Amino acid sequence: MPFCARKCDYCHFYVIPDKPFFHEPFLRALKSEWQLRKHLLPDQGLVSIYFGGGTPSRLNVLALEEILTWIQPDSSVEITLEANPDHVTLEDLYNYRRIGINRLSLGVQSLHDGMLQKLSRTHRSSHACSVIDQAYQCGLTNLSIDLMYDLPDQTLEIWQQTLDRVCQLPITHLSLYNLTIEPHTVFYKKRHALKVPDAETSLLMLRQAEETLANSGFERYEISAFAKESKLSRHNMGYWTDRPFLGFGPSAFSDWNKKRFQNVPHFWRYVKACQEGRDPTGYEEQLDSTERERERLTVGLRVLKGVQTHKPNLGLDSLIEEGWLEQDGSWIRLTSQGRLFYDTVCEKIYGLDLSYFTSC
Ligand code: SF4
Repeated sequence: MPFCARKCDYCHFYVIPDKPFFHEPFLRALKSEWQLRKHLLPDQGLVSIYFGGGTPSRLNVLALEEILTWIQPDSSVEITLEANPDHVTLEDLYNYRRIGINRLSLGVQSLHDGMLQKLSRTHRSSHACSVIDQAYQCGLTNLSIDLMYDLPDQTLEIWQQTLDRVCQLPITHLSLYNLTIEPHTVFYKKRHALKVPDAETSLLMLRQAEETLANSGFERYEISAFAKESKLSRHNMGYWTDRPFLGFGPSAFSDWNKKRFQNVPHFWRYVKACQEGRDPTGYEEQLDSTERERERLTVGLRVLKGVQTHKPNLGLDSLIEEGWLEQDGSWIRLTSQGRLFYDTVCEKIYGLDLSYFTSC
C-alpha cells in the first residue's frame, strides 16, 4: 500500500503522498488483482498476510476488513499491519483486533524527539509509547517496532535513552536498522551536511543495542530482527527461508512457482491495468537453479541459526578460513564478524565458482 502522509527524508521506497480519492480506485484494482491471482494460492497452507507499505494504516478499517473477506484466512494465519503511530486511534486499534489482525508493526524509529525531527517523522516519542500501550490493552499483544540508529547527530547517550525506553514497552519484536543514505532521497541531496556517527561509534551503538535488548529478554534471530517469547516474524522468516510469496499492489514483488516478478511501480498504471483485467506485472525473471541456490544461501545466512545444506562440499572453505562463516554439521552460519560484514560475505559468495551448486 503505497500511501504515506508525506515522504520521509530518508525513504527510498515507492511511496505516494496520500489523497483520500486514491483509496477507492486502489481497492477496486486490488480486488481485480486478487481475482486474477487467487487461483495460485493453495486451499490450505497460507502462513501469513502482511499489510505493508507505505503506510497501510492510512486505509480505513472497513477497507482492510473487506480485503480480509476476500482471503478468508483461518485463525492460524499471522496477519500483520504496518502502522504509523501518528494517526492510529484507540478505536482503530480495537477494530484491527476485531477484524482479525493479530500483529502490529509500528514505525517508531526512535524514542527521542530530536532524532524524530531530524528524520522528518511527524510523531512524538510519547505518542508512540502511548499507542503501543493502547494496542497492548486492545489485545494486540504481538507487537513489533522498527528502530533506527546511526542518525544525524545521534550520540551513544541519546541512543541508550531510546534503548532503555524500548525495554519498558510491552513489545515482542523489534527490527533494528542503521540509517543508510540512499540515492533519490532528501538525505542524499544534503548528505555532506549530515553529521552521522563514524564507523567506530556505529559499531558501539550496535553493541549497545545487542546488550540492552539481550538483558531485556530479546533474542537476536536475524541480522536485523530481535524477538521475545519466541515471537519471530513468521512472515519475514518466509523471505529468509525461501518460502514462496505473492505480493499485491503497485510495485509489489512476488516469488512464486520459481518465478520472480514485480508489479508496475506506478499507481495509476497499476490501477489501469487491473481495471482493464490485465496482469499488472511490470517485470519478471526466472532464476536458473544455480542462481536460486546461491540466493537461498545468501538470504538464508541472514538468519543467525544459519542455512541447512545437504551438499557435502559447498566450496565455502575460503570464507570459513577467513572467519566469515562457520560450519556446524549440515548448518552454515555467519560468524560474529560475518554478521558485521554481511554484504561483503554475499559479494564473496557471488564471486565464488558456482560449479558446486549445479554439480550436487
Ligand atoms: S512512513 Fe515509511 S514508507 Fe512512508 S515515507 Fe516514511 S519511511 Fe517511507
